[in-house]
Amino acid sequence: MKKLSIQDVDVAGKRVLVRVDFNVPLANGVVGDDTRIQAALPTIENLRDRGARIVLLSHLGRPDGMFDEANSLDPVVARLSELLDQTVAFHSGQIIDDPSVSAAINDLTNGDIVMLENIRFYAGEKSNDEVFARTLAGLADLYVNDAFGAAHRAHASTEGVAHILPAYAGLLLAGEIDTLSSMLLAPKKPFVAILGGSKVSDKFGVIDKLIEIVDTLLIGGGMAFTFLAAQGYNIGKSLVEPDWIEPASKMIAKAEEFGCTLMLPSDIVVADAFAADAVNKVVPASEIPSEMMGLDIGPDSAAEYAKAIIGAETIFWNGPMGVFEMKAFENGTRIVAEAVAAAQGVSVIGGGDSVAALKQFGLQDHVTFISTGGGASMKLVEGAKLPGLEALLDA
Ligand code: ADP
Ligand code: MG
Repeated sequence: MKKLSIQDVDVAGKRVLVRVDFNVPLANGVVGDDTRIQAALPTIENLRDRGARIVLLSHLGRPDGMFDEANSLDPVVARLSELLDQTVAFHSGQIIDDPSVSAAINDLTNGDIVMLENIRFYAGEKSNDEVFARTLAGLADLYVNDAFGAAHRAHASTEGVAHILPAYAGLLLAGEIDTLSSMLLAPKKPFVAILGGSKVSDKFGVIDKLIEIVDTLLIGGGMAFTFLAAQGYNIGKSLVEPDWIEPASKMIAKAEEFGCTLMLPSDIVVADAFAADAVNKVVPASEIPSEMMGLDIGPDSAAEYAKAIIGAETIFWNGPMGVFEMKAFENGTRIVAEAVAAAQGVSVIGGGDSVAALKQFGLQDHVTFISTGGGASMKLVEGAKLPGLEALLDA
């Protein structure tokens, strides 16, 4: 999986097309959380300081292959300029059959940066159209992919163009791949994984793969109820995926076969409604009342999970333990997050909501590595090939 990175190429005076993932939340025309922009700064600064002429590309939101004001990158360019302390030019016009884009790029001197408008305003992006990929390639001498969060997509700006220009990994993308692959290939033991979130179906490939590698697998969140149902428990009105009960049963058997300790919550915080002010109580996992739903793991489970986490040398966490967005159901996730933060071992966190939870508890600076790619990191852990990575030059 070793790929050439920007460190392996001379970029001075070259036009470098850099695909970043600036798919950030916007509120009232201003960037909210700028974590994704910050994450790409090392690559942008490295290229700039070595005299590249940088052309940035990103997607934002889900526009339907055409211009859509609400998803313009304009506010992102403003935030990036602030963070770099340098004016980043914005080419908001067309890039197909429009000489103004080449003019804007040809105007760059070494160290200058121009950002193009949202790449998903073009239908050829998602369809990975060959002609569109050639249009992109025609804008530059080299291509750099630093959009780890989009690396599992085979789009024109993540995959197509990489087959045409000499293509290198950016520092963020390279760091993500290094961290996640060394966690999978050579983890220090004990290796404890914590999986939660809403659905088993989203994460089944990850569970299947981790069972083969980890010593302990802790299951929480909505997905725990499909596992509890597989154990024959009544789960009341809790979230469940009936089609996944049988596969969950097989996973429990597979864990035994691989010597992986798979833990399910022993107690549950149940509520009479999916609401912040719902009446709630703690019950044993085997005694969930029929008319109630489980919205968090209980205090005994959280304490047991924390104990396993504290002793781990390697920790991978994806998915909250409960509905952490509501105060009454955040405790399980908080206790697990605190244990991850306190553990001495290497801790890797993936998943948008898990990272949001970590931030909610102010613990984001107390873990080893936060992955910027939810879907992409899940695919990588599953063992799937990432098209945006495969297309880069081999080291
Ligand atoms: P991530 O983004 O970290 O991969 P997911 O998207 O899979 O995580 O799941 C996060 C969501 O799961 C959160 O919005 C949370 O409220 C929800 N969730 C967690 N536990 C439960 C539960 N017991 N019932 C319903 N939803 C839950
Ligand atoms: Mg999520």
